[in-house]
Amino acid sequence: VEQRSKGPRQADAVVAGVTITHPSRVVYAEGELTKLDLARYYERVAGHLLPHLRNRPLSLVRCPQGSAHGCFFQKHLGDALPDSVQAVSVPTGDGDTATYMMVDDLPALIGLVQYGVMEFHTWGARGDAPERPDRLIFDLDPAPDVAWAQVKEAAQLTRALLEYLGLRCFLKTTGGKGLHVEVPLIRGPGWDEAKAFARGVAEHLAAEIPQRFTTKLAKNRRGGRIFIDYLRNALGATAVAAFSTRARPGAPVAVPLFWEELEQGIQSADFTVRNLDARLRDTADPWADYHDARRRLTDAMRRTLADA
Ligand code: ATP
Ligand code: MN
Ligand code: MN
Repeated sequence: VEQRSKGPRQADAVVAGVTITHPSRVVYAEGELTKLDLARYYERVAGHLLPHLRNRPLSLVRCPQGSAHGCFFQKHLGDALPDSVQAVSVPTGDGDTATYMMVDDLPALIGLVQYGVMEFHTWGARGDAPERPDRLIFDLDPAPDVAWAQVKEAAQLTRALLEYLGLRCFLKTTGGKGLHVEVPLIRGPGWDEAKAFARGVAEHLAAEIPQRFTTKLAKNRRGGRIFIDYLRNALGATAVAAFSTRARPGAPVAVPLFWEELEQGIQSADFTVRNLDARLRDTADPWADYHDARRRLTDAMRRTLADA
Protein backbone atom coordinates (compact mmCIF):
# COMPACT_ATOMS: atom_id res chain seq x y z
CA VAL A 1 0.00 0.00 0.00
CA GLU A 2 1.50 3.28 -1.06
CA GLN A 3 1.56 5.90 1.64
CA ARG A 4 0.11 9.20 0.59
CA SER A 5 2.26 12.08 1.82
CA LYS A 6 0.62 15.30 2.90
CA GLY A 7 3.41 17.60 1.77
CA PRO A 8 6.35 17.55 -0.63
CA ARG A 9 8.35 15.31 1.68
CA GLN A 10 11.07 13.61 -0.30
CA ALA A 11 11.82 9.96 0.21
CA ASP A 12 15.06 9.09 1.98
CA ALA A 13 17.96 8.32 -0.32
CA VAL A 14 20.57 5.58 0.04
CA VAL A 15 24.29 6.19 -0.55
CA ALA A 16 26.79 3.37 -0.08
CA GLY A 17 24.15 1.46 1.80
CA VAL A 18 23.55 4.32 4.24
CA THR A 19 20.11 5.90 4.47
CA ILE A 20 20.37 9.66 4.04
CA THR A 21 17.51 11.45 5.74
CA HIS A 22 16.51 14.94 4.55
CA PRO A 23 18.41 14.35 1.28
CA SER A 24 17.11 17.57 -0.28
CA ARG A 25 18.11 19.78 2.65
CA VAL A 26 20.33 22.55 1.29
CA VAL A 27 23.64 22.40 3.19
CA TYR A 28 25.50 24.97 1.06
CA ALA A 29 23.35 27.97 0.15
CA GLU A 30 25.42 28.97 -2.89
CA GLY A 31 24.74 26.54 -5.67
CA GLU A 32 22.08 24.90 -3.53
CA LEU A 33 24.13 21.84 -2.70
CA THR A 34 22.03 19.36 -0.76
CA LYS A 35 22.85 16.82 1.88
CA LEU A 36 22.50 14.15 -0.81
CA ASP A 37 24.96 16.05 -3.06
CA LEU A 38 27.40 16.09 -0.13
CA ALA A 39 26.99 12.36 0.53
CA ARG A 40 27.61 11.67 -3.16
CA TYR A 41 30.70 13.93 -3.12
CA TYR A 42 32.12 11.87 -0.25
CA GLU A 43 31.25 8.63 -2.01
CA ARG A 44 33.17 9.84 -5.09
CA VAL A 45 36.30 11.00 -3.21
CA ALA A 46 36.36 8.21 -0.62
CA GLY A 47 39.25 6.46 -2.37
CA HIS A 48 41.32 9.64 -1.97
CA LEU A 49 40.09 10.70 1.46
CA LEU A 50 40.01 7.42 3.39
CA PRO A 51 43.82 6.92 3.36
CA HIS A 52 44.08 10.27 5.20
CA LEU A 53 41.42 9.35 7.76
CA ARG A 54 42.08 5.68 8.41
CA ASN A 55 43.43 4.83 11.90
CA ARG A 56 43.47 8.47 13.01
CA PRO A 57 41.49 9.96 15.89
CA LEU A 58 39.17 12.61 14.47
CA SER A 59 37.54 15.89 15.28
CA LEU A 60 34.42 16.54 13.26
CA VAL A 61 32.62 19.73 12.36
CA ARG A 62 28.92 19.03 12.49
CA CYS A 63 26.31 21.31 11.00
CA PRO A 64 22.98 19.53 11.51
CA GLN A 65 21.00 22.14 9.56
CA GLY A 66 23.65 22.97 6.96
CA SER A 67 26.72 25.20 6.86
CA ALA A 68 24.80 28.43 7.30
CA HIS A 69 22.93 27.38 10.43
CA GLY A 70 25.50 26.80 13.12
CA CYS A 71 28.30 24.26 13.29
CA PHE A 72 30.25 22.80 16.18
CA PHE A 73 33.29 20.62 16.76
CA GLN A 74 32.60 17.11 17.99
CA LYS A 75 35.55 15.18 19.36
CA HIS A 76 34.01 12.42 21.41
CA LEU A 77 32.18 9.37 20.23
CA GLY A 78 28.47 10.09 20.55
CA ASP A 79 25.70 7.63 21.30
CA ALA A 80 23.81 8.15 18.07
CA LEU A 81 26.75 7.32 15.81
CA PRO A 82 26.57 4.41 13.38
CA ASP A 83 28.33 1.19 14.47
CA SER A 84 30.63 1.49 11.46
CA VAL A 85 32.45 4.36 13.22
CA GLN A 86 35.37 2.98 15.24
CA ALA A 87 36.04 3.94 18.84
CA VAL A 88 39.58 4.63 20.02
CA SER A 89 40.80 5.41 23.50
CA VAL A 90 43.30 8.26 23.55
CA PRO A 91 45.19 10.10 26.28
CA THR A 92 43.99 13.62 26.91
CA GLY A 93 47.32 14.84 28.24
CA ASP A 94 46.22 15.28 31.85
CA GLY A 95 46.61 11.62 32.74
CA ASP A 96 43.07 10.83 31.66
CA THR A 97 41.75 9.11 28.54
CA ALA A 98 38.83 9.84 26.24
CA THR A 99 37.01 7.92 23.54
CA TYR A 100 37.47 9.41 20.08
CA MET A 101 36.19 8.39 16.66
CA MET A 102 38.00 6.82 13.72
CA VAL A 103 36.73 6.17 10.19
CA ASP A 104 38.10 3.24 8.25
CA ASP A 105 35.60 2.61 5.50
CA LEU A 106 32.96 4.05 3.20
CA PRO A 107 29.90 3.19 5.34
CA ALA A 108 31.44 5.00 8.32
CA LEU A 109 32.32 8.00 6.15
CA ILE A 110 28.84 8.30 4.67
CA GLY A 111 27.33 7.47 8.06
CA LEU A 112 28.98 10.59 9.46
CA VAL A 113 27.71 12.74 6.57
CA GLN A 114 24.24 11.44 7.39
CA TYR A 115 25.00 12.57 10.96
CA GLY A 116 25.59 16.13 9.76
CA VAL A 117 29.38 16.13 9.47
CA MET A 118 30.73 18.72 7.03
CA GLU A 119 34.45 18.71 7.96
CA PHE A 120 36.87 15.92 8.87
CA HIS A 121 39.93 16.89 10.96
CA THR A 122 42.61 14.41 11.92
CA TRP A 123 45.22 14.01 14.61
CA GLY A 124 48.87 13.99 13.62
CA ALA A 125 49.22 10.52 15.11
CA ARG A 126 47.53 7.18 14.57
CA GLY A 127 45.19 5.53 17.04
CA ASP A 128 47.58 2.72 17.96
CA ALA A 129 50.19 5.22 19.18
CA PRO A 130 48.48 8.57 19.72
CA GLU A 131 51.47 9.93 21.60
CA ARG A 132 53.88 9.36 18.71
CA PRO A 133 53.24 11.73 15.78
CA ASP A 134 53.74 10.60 12.20
CA ARG A 135 53.51 14.04 10.65
CA LEU A 136 54.19 17.68 11.30
CA ILE A 137 51.94 20.46 10.05
CA PHE A 138 52.89 24.05 9.42
CA ASP A 139 49.61 25.93 9.29
CA LEU A 140 50.24 29.23 7.53
CA ASP A 141 47.67 31.76 8.68
CA PRO A 142 47.80 35.15 6.94
CA ALA A 143 46.42 38.24 8.66
CA PRO A 144 43.44 39.57 6.68
CA ASP A 145 45.49 42.22 4.84
CA VAL A 146 48.24 39.86 3.62
CA ALA A 147 48.39 39.41 -0.17
CA TRP A 148 48.19 35.90 -1.60
CA ALA A 149 51.63 36.30 -3.19
CA GLN A 150 53.08 36.46 0.32
CA VAL A 151 51.20 33.36 1.48
CA LYS A 152 52.58 31.52 -1.53
CA GLU A 153 56.10 32.74 -0.78
CA ALA A 154 55.73 31.73 2.88
CA ALA A 155 54.93 28.16 1.85
CA GLN A 156 57.92 28.11 -0.49
CA LEU A 157 60.26 29.45 2.20
CA THR A 158 58.95 26.89 4.70
CA ARG A 159 59.62 24.19 2.16
CA ALA A 160 63.13 25.47 1.45
CA LEU A 161 64.06 25.35 5.14
CA LEU A 162 62.51 21.91 5.68
CA GLU A 163 64.34 20.48 2.66
CA TYR A 164 67.58 22.08 3.81
CA LEU A 165 67.10 20.17 7.06
CA GLY A 166 66.58 16.94 5.12
CA LEU A 167 62.80 16.63 5.35
CA ARG A 168 60.30 16.17 2.54
CA CYS A 169 57.12 18.22 2.68
CA PHE A 170 53.75 18.36 0.96
CA LEU A 171 51.39 21.20 0.24
CA LYS A 172 47.64 21.38 0.62
CA THR A 173 44.97 24.01 0.34
CA THR A 174 42.72 24.37 3.35
CA GLY A 175 39.65 25.58 1.51
CA GLY A 176 40.16 28.75 3.52
CA LYS A 177 42.65 31.60 3.72
CA GLY A 178 46.01 29.94 4.22
CA LEU A 179 47.96 26.82 3.32
CA HIS A 180 49.19 23.73 5.15
CA VAL A 181 52.69 22.31 4.71
CA GLU A 182 52.82 18.67 5.87
CA VAL A 183 55.92 16.70 6.79
CA PRO A 184 55.44 12.91 6.92
CA LEU A 185 57.49 11.38 9.75
CA ILE A 186 58.66 7.94 10.69
CA ARG A 187 57.18 7.51 14.12
CA GLY A 188 59.60 7.84 16.97
CA PRO A 189 59.70 10.87 19.22
CA GLY A 190 56.77 12.08 21.28
CA TRP A 191 54.78 15.27 20.86
CA ASP A 192 57.08 17.40 23.01
CA GLU A 193 60.00 16.73 20.70
CA ALA A 194 57.93 17.12 17.55
CA LYS A 195 56.46 20.38 18.73
CA ALA A 196 59.84 21.74 19.82
CA PHE A 197 61.19 20.94 16.37
CA ALA A 198 58.23 22.58 14.59
CA ARG A 199 58.57 25.58 16.84
CA GLY A 200 62.25 25.82 15.98
CA VAL A 201 61.44 25.86 12.28
CA ALA A 202 58.73 28.49 12.72
CA GLU A 203 60.89 30.69 14.95
CA HIS A 204 63.78 30.49 12.53
CA LEU A 205 61.59 31.79 9.69
CA ALA A 206 60.16 34.51 11.92
CA ALA A 207 63.62 35.57 13.05
CA GLU A 208 64.96 35.70 9.48
CA ILE A 209 62.00 37.58 7.98
CA PRO A 210 60.23 39.30 10.87
CA GLN A 211 58.37 41.69 8.56
CA ARG A 212 56.56 38.70 6.99
CA PHE A 213 56.27 36.03 9.69
CA THR A 214 55.24 35.80 13.30
CA THR A 215 54.96 32.92 15.74
CA LYS A 216 52.92 34.96 18.20
CA LEU A 217 49.48 33.57 18.88
CA ALA A 218 47.93 36.90 19.86
CA LYS A 219 46.02 38.21 16.83
CA ASN A 220 46.71 41.83 17.70
CA ARG A 221 50.43 41.15 17.44
CA ARG A 222 50.23 39.61 13.98
CA GLY A 223 49.58 42.88 12.10
CA GLY A 224 50.02 42.35 8.37
CA ARG A 225 52.02 39.17 8.80
CA ILE A 226 51.62 35.42 8.41
CA PHE A 227 51.26 33.48 11.63
CA ILE A 228 53.20 30.23 11.32
CA ASP A 229 50.97 28.11 13.49
CA TYR A 230 53.22 25.32 14.77
CA LEU A 231 50.76 24.63 17.62
CA ARG A 232 48.96 22.09 15.39
CA ASN A 233 51.81 19.80 16.46
CA ALA A 234 50.57 18.69 19.83
CA LEU A 235 48.65 15.85 21.43
CA GLY A 236 45.01 16.25 20.45
CA ALA A 237 45.59 19.06 17.93
CA THR A 238 44.10 18.52 14.50
CA ALA A 239 44.26 19.72 10.93
CA VAL A 240 41.62 19.46 8.24
CA ALA A 241 42.09 16.29 6.16
CA ALA A 242 42.90 16.44 2.47
CA PHE A 243 39.62 16.08 0.50
CA SER A 244 37.48 17.15 3.43
CA THR A 245 34.88 19.77 2.62
CA ARG A 246 34.79 23.00 4.64
CA ALA A 247 31.58 24.35 6.10
CA ARG A 248 32.30 27.73 4.54
CA PRO A 249 30.70 29.72 1.72
CA GLY A 250 31.30 28.25 -1.73
CA ALA A 251 31.65 24.61 -0.58
CA PRO A 252 35.47 24.65 -0.66
CA VAL A 253 37.54 21.51 -0.28
CA ALA A 254 41.06 20.96 1.15
CA VAL A 255 43.22 19.59 -1.67
CA PRO A 256 46.81 18.35 -2.11
CA LEU A 257 48.76 20.54 -4.55
CA PHE A 258 51.93 20.19 -6.55
CA TRP A 259 54.41 22.85 -5.45
CA GLU A 260 54.51 24.06 -9.06
CA GLU A 261 50.79 24.82 -8.92
CA LEU A 262 51.46 27.72 -6.58
CA GLU A 263 53.11 29.45 -9.52
CA GLN A 264 49.99 28.92 -11.60
CA GLY A 265 48.02 31.14 -9.24
CA ILE A 266 45.93 28.51 -7.48
CA GLN A 267 44.55 29.80 -4.19
CA SER A 268 43.33 28.02 -1.12
CA ALA A 269 39.59 28.08 -1.71
CA ASP A 270 39.68 27.42 -5.46
CA PHE A 271 38.67 23.78 -5.34
CA THR A 272 35.10 23.00 -4.38
CA VAL A 273 32.58 20.19 -4.19
CA ARG A 274 31.54 21.29 -7.68
CA ASN A 275 34.87 21.35 -9.49
CA LEU A 276 36.99 18.74 -7.73
CA ASP A 277 35.89 15.91 -10.03
CA ALA A 278 37.51 17.60 -13.00
CA ARG A 279 40.76 18.02 -11.08
CA LEU A 280 40.82 14.40 -9.99
CA ARG A 281 40.21 13.35 -13.58
CA ASP A 282 42.89 15.61 -15.10
CA THR A 283 45.64 15.80 -12.49
CA ALA A 284 47.92 13.14 -11.04
CA ASP A 285 48.15 12.72 -7.26
CA PRO A 286 50.53 15.42 -5.96
CA TRP A 287 51.08 13.34 -2.82
CA ALA A 288 51.77 10.03 -4.58
CA ASP A 289 55.07 9.53 -2.73
CA TYR A 290 53.85 10.87 0.64
CA HIS A 291 54.45 7.58 2.46
CA ASP A 292 57.86 6.95 0.92
CA ALA A 293 58.85 10.46 1.98
CA ARG A 294 58.68 9.71 5.71
CA ARG A 295 61.82 10.73 7.54
CA ARG A 296 63.05 10.56 11.10
CA LEU A 297 63.64 13.74 13.07
CA THR A 298 67.34 13.54 13.87
CA ASP A 299 69.80 15.29 16.16
CA ALA A 300 71.70 16.31 13.03
CA MET A 301 68.61 18.19 11.84
CA ARG A 302 68.26 19.88 15.22
CA ARG A 303 71.91 20.98 15.08
CA THR A 304 71.52 22.25 11.53
CA LEU A 305 68.45 24.21 12.57
CA ALA A 306 70.24 25.66 15.58
CA ASP A 307 73.16 26.75 13.38
CA ALA A 308 71.10 27.93 10.42
P1 ATP B 1 42.68 28.54 7.01
O1 ATP B 1 43.53 28.31 5.81
O2 ATP B 1 41.51 29.43 6.68
O3 ATP B 1 43.48 29.01 8.19
P2 ATP B 1 42.54 26.17 8.57
O4 ATP B 1 41.87 24.84 8.45
O5 ATP B 1 44.04 26.12 8.59
O6 ATP B 1 42.03 27.10 7.38
P3 ATP B 1 42.76 27.32 11.21
O7 ATP B 1 41.82 28.19 11.97
O8 ATP B 1 44.10 27.86 10.91
O9 ATP B 1 41.97 26.89 9.86
O10 ATP B 1 42.90 25.99 12.02
C1 ATP B 1 43.90 25.04 11.74
C2 ATP B 1 43.40 23.70 12.21
O11 ATP B 1 43.19 23.74 13.62
C3 ATP B 1 42.03 23.34 11.62
O12 ATP B 1 42.18 22.66 10.37
C4 ATP B 1 41.41 22.51 12.71
O13 ATP B 1 41.73 21.13 12.56
C5 ATP B 1 42.03 23.02 13.98
N1 ATP B 1 41.09 23.91 14.69
C6 ATP B 1 40.85 25.20 14.43
N2 ATP B 1 39.91 25.70 15.25
C7 ATP B 1 39.54 24.69 16.07
C8 ATP B 1 38.59 24.56 17.14
N3 ATP B 1 37.84 25.57 17.55
N4 ATP B 1 38.49 23.36 17.74
C9 ATP B 1 39.24 22.32 17.33
N5 ATP B 1 40.15 22.39 16.32
C10 ATP B 1 40.29 23.55 15.70
MN1 MN C 1 45.19 27.83 8.99
MN1 MN D 1 45.72 28.14 12.53
